[in-house]
This record gives sequence, C-alpha cells and structure tokens, in this order.
Amino acid sequence: MTKEEILRQYYGYEAFRSGQAELIEAVLAGRDVFGIMPTGAGKSICYQVPALMLPGITLVISPLISLMKDQVTALNQMGVHAAYLNSSLTPGQYRKALELARGGRYKIIYVAPERLMTDGFLDFALHTELSLVSVDEAHCVSQWGQDFRPSYLKIVDFLHSLARRPVVAAFTATATRQVRDDIVRILELDRPVALTTGFDRKNLFFGVRQPRDKMGEVLKLLSEHRGESGIIYCATRKSVEEVCDRLIREGIKATRYHAGLSDEERTKNQEDFIYDAQPVMVATNAFGMGIDKSNVRYVIHYNMPKNMESYYQEAGRAGRDGVPADCILLYGGQDVVTNQYFIEHARENEELSDRELEIVKEQDRERLKKMTFYCFTEDCLRGYMLRYFGEQAAGSCGNCSNCIGEFTELDVTDTALAMMKCVYESGSRFGAQAILDCLRGSSSQKIRRFGLDKNPCYGCCKDVTIHRLRQILNRLYVLEYLRQEGEPYPILAMTQKGRESVLGDVPIRVTIQIPTEKLVQQRRKKGAGYTPAAEADEGLFAGLKRLRLALARENGVPPYIIFSDRTLTDMCRKLPRTKEEMLQVTGVGEVKFERFGEKFLEEIRKGVE
Ligand code: ADP
Ligand code: ZN
Repeated sequence: MTKEEILRQYYGYEAFRSGQAELIEAVLAGRDVFGIMPTGAGKSICYQVPALMLPGITLVISPLISLMKDQVTALNQMGVHAAYLNSSLTPGQYRKALELARGGRYKIIYVAPERLMTDGFLDFALHTELSLVSVDEAHCVSQWGQDFRPSYLKIVDFLHSLARRPVVAAFTATATRQVRDDIVRILELDRPVALTTGFDRKNLFFGVRQPRDKMGEVLKLLSEHRGESGIIYCATRKSVEEVCDRLIREGIKATRYHAGLSDEERTKNQEDFIYDAQPVMVATNAFGMGIDKSNVRYVIHYNMPKNMESYYQEAGRAGRDGVPADCILLYGGQDVVTNQYFIEHARENEELSDRELEIVKEQDRERLKKMTFYCFTEDCLRGYMLRYFGEQAAGSCGNCSNCIGEFTELDVTDTALAMMKCVYESGSRFGAQAILDCLRGSSSQKIRRFGLDKNPCYGCCKDVTIHRLRQILNRLYVLEYLRQEGEPYPILAMTQKGRESVLGDVPIRVTIQIPTEKLVQQRRKKGAGYTPAAEADEGLFAGLKRLRLALARENGVPPYIIFSDRTLTDMCRKLPRTKEEMLQVTGVGEVKFERFGEKFLEEIRKGVE
C-alpha cells in the first residue's frame, strides 16, 4: 500500500496536511527526521503511517500515559495492532504485553522512557527488528524546555545499546532555538530532515477581553456555546472551585480538575469530560497534557498564563478536529502580580545552581512580559503569536478580536501625562489602584492616609472612566514608560525610558473597539469553509451524536475515537446513502466503516426521511 492508500483506508482522510508527506517520505528513505509542529497539527500520522509500511516494529517514546492509552485505543479501533508499556500496567499485564510483543503481535508499541533500559524491555528490543524509534514531546530532553525529564536522557543510551540503529524521528511543539538545538544534539539525530509546519491554526479564533466582571463574561461566553464542550483554565485551585461552583449553580454541566483533588476524583472528572457527560471542564494548568479530545469548541482563560508557550498549548486544545473554535483570554491586572509571585517563588530545582536559577527566573520574567503584551497589543493577535514563535505573519488575519472589530483611535496624551506625573510626584511608592484612585479624585480613607489627596494630579481625571484609565495604563506598560515592580504589593514605577522621554512630543493614542455583537455573529456564519454543526441539520447531527455516544459506551472508548465532530458534520453535509458514499466522508476508513458504517447509514436514512 502507498502512504496515500493507508491514509484513506485506515484513517479515512483524503489528503496529508502540510509537512506530513515530507516527513513520512524521509523516514521511508531511512533519514532521521525532526518535526516541529503545533499541537493538533497531526504529528502522530507522521510516524504511524511509516510504521505501517516499514518491515519491523516502531517504538514510540512518550511521557504521557493518558496519551499513550488514547493513541493505542484509536489504533486498535482502526484495525492496527498496537500496545503500550508503562506504569499503568500491573506487572502481570506488562509481562503479558511484552510476551505478545516478542511474538510479533504489535506493529506499534508505545513505551515510557523510564522503561527503555530495564532488563526485560532491553532484551526484547535486542531480539526484534526495530525499524523506527519515534520520540514524542522531544523537548523533554532539554533543560531549557519547560518539561525537562531526566528519563529522556536514557533514550540515547538505549539507541547505543542496539545492534543496529533504527531511524529516529523526533517531534515537539516547542519552538525556541535553544530547545531545538538541544534536541538534535542530545538525541544525536543524524542530519535530520527538519520541518516546521506553520504554527498557525486557522480554525482558532483568538480573543482578549478585559471584563470588569470575569464571571459574568464567562457566563456570556458559555451562553454562546450552549451544549458545546469547552475548557476554562484558572490560575489557582481556589478560582477553579469558585468558577466551577458558580457554573453548577447556573445549571451548567461542569466539572473540575486540579492537583488538590484525589487521584480518583481527577480520573473520574477527566473521563466525564472526555465522554461528554460533563462538557465543561474548569481546571488549572495541571489539566490537559495528553488530552486529545477533538471536539473542544472553546478554551477560556480566566487568568492570563505565565507565558505564550503555555497559552498556545492550552488554547490549542480547542478545535483539534479543524472545525472553528474560540480561544478567549480574560485579562485582569491581578494576573500579572500572581504570575510574578509564581516566578519569584518557583520551587527551587535542586539541580540548578543559584546562578542558573537566576537565569531561569530572568527568562521567565521576560516571557511573562511578552505574554502581558499579547493582552495589550492592538495588532493582530495571531500575528503577534506567530512572530513570537519565529514565524512571519500577515498584518491582519480577520479571525482575532483585534482584526474583526471596528476601531477608532483616541488621543489620550493629556491623561497619560497626568498619570506619569502622578506617579512621579508621589515618589513611585504606590500601586496602580492607588494612583488611579488619586487621579479620579477618590476620597477614600486610604487615599487620604497616603496623602495622595495632596498630589498635584489629584482628581484631574475625574471625568475619565476607570476602564479607560486602565487601558491607558496598559498602553504605558507596552510603551515601557511605566512598570510594576515588587511583591507582594507591586508598586507602579517609571522605567528608565519613562524618565528620559519627553512625553508629549509623541502623542499617545489608544485604540478603542466598537463592540459589535453583529460582527462576531457574521464571523461565525462565514467562518473559513465550515458548516457549523448548528447549521447542518440540527436534528440529524444530534441523532448521530446520540448514536456515537451509545457506540462509545458499548465499546468502552471516548466518543471522538468512534468519529470526530468533523466527521459527523461531514456526514450531515454529504448525506451518504451507500458504503461508497460513506467512505467519501472525512474520517471514515475501511475498518471504521466495517465496525460502525452501517449503523450511521441507517441513522442518516432515518433522519432524511
Ligand atoms: P498532534 O499530536 O500533532 O497534537 P494529532 O496527531 O493528535 O496531533 O492529530 C490531531 C488531529 O488531527 C487528530 O484528530 C488527527 O486524526 C487529525 N489529523 C491528522 N492528520 C490529518 C489529515 N491529514 N487529515 C485530516 N485529519 C488529520
Ligand atoms: Zn488577527
């Protein structure tokens, strides 16, 4: 079979995505490869397809137990023999799996890195034909990455102990130069064919909002996504609890996930989410590694994350099926402070010297700054993000909150000047709130106690809304005239640049968006080549979903393993009547058809009559 035939037969996909064919060809030609692809781009196909074409066995090294399980389940559903070897198996199950592997039962084996150098596994590896070793999440070898795992260093020892070196393929979604260099060097990739597929995920809408009432905003967003699956990320366990409780009180089917829960509850809540029993997940960043739920329609960040890498990874869990999805970040001034606190109190990594630790912290501060600017930028959000990851980007994407609104510019030089002056006159000793209160002429006790009512700028902005003042303050951060420093009570201070600039020479403007609900609705309707489920025959779509859920329960797998939302939507659009027509639907391969095809055809027939 050719690689195209495999794609069609097993996966039911029409064409390779950008980068996939090239990497597969290179592996088949015996070259090492290095794929740098964002989450959801389709890395697994890059090693699974050659695995099915090469003579021997393919090992996939992955740090993520849940992901292994998911991938193996998906492969078995497609009719490919695959297994995983990790700590979730009992010793008995592990021995059994290894025995079957020895007997040549599996074409693809997922293995945790810490297993590689164990006697049992090594013995197996030495007596079998290994064609390909694929290293998933390859950035785990690098100390500069965010998820350094010492067990990843064993991979190269393992390769050395083999009689013949297999082709090695490495994959990561991390883009920084330093980490990339580390991966090639530490894994000893041999002149790899390296490929960066665009980080852009066109189906994701990116938005930043600065609501006064975050909870209200969440409820509003959820009402636009009624019945759909989504994730709400919060910075702390406490806010996870608060948000989740509130949603449940509002009658929304939500569940929660954070490190403070028992293993049992975490597993249960995660499954409830994956199986769509509780379509809304409220979680800390502990949630999501290895979750491959393809029908997540929105990811809301209740707080700003600590850097763009985290944000893109978390937001990227939306829309993995390629159908439009929303990624909305709700920014609040406190978010910067919380993150600064996390950085300064990062649990000390014992392997690092004081100097190294300081370097790491400095990097973290810089990353936080870039993340904060994402929230304030008035340029295209997608463009900002792509440039951060080292890519070129067009000026305007038409699919982010900065590109769809209608804008108007406002000259705020006078107010900005007053703000700077107020900070200066008060000796850079107060936090943002106190300065803004002073400008607005607040008569609170605090203001009087601090003597801020004597400040020459006291009350000089009493006609400006607090919202606008915050926006101007943000602008001054971006221009690097002002910054926050110190904790736990950060104060507002002038930067070197702020002191040196002769303000007023250059006018300061902020862009204000004319919020038009209509624009958002238009976008939803137009959305790049997409028929939203809601617009397809709603009754039929619901029927197909019900059938999928029933089949999922029967087979003990998550619904999206049966068919993705995209596949169901395509069924609604194409209304297939025969096997041949059904095989034209994206995501329907031969084996899947054999298993489930007729049932879905029947449901469609019923629905159309
Ligand atoms: P990654 O590991 O890069 O995060 P996956 O390999 O899990 O991404 O793929 C993400 C989703 O895209 C999966 O649902 C997968 O089946 C789908 N996919 C991958 N390649 C293709 C393709 N060529 N055509 C259609 N869908 C694809
Ligand atoms: Zn844009």
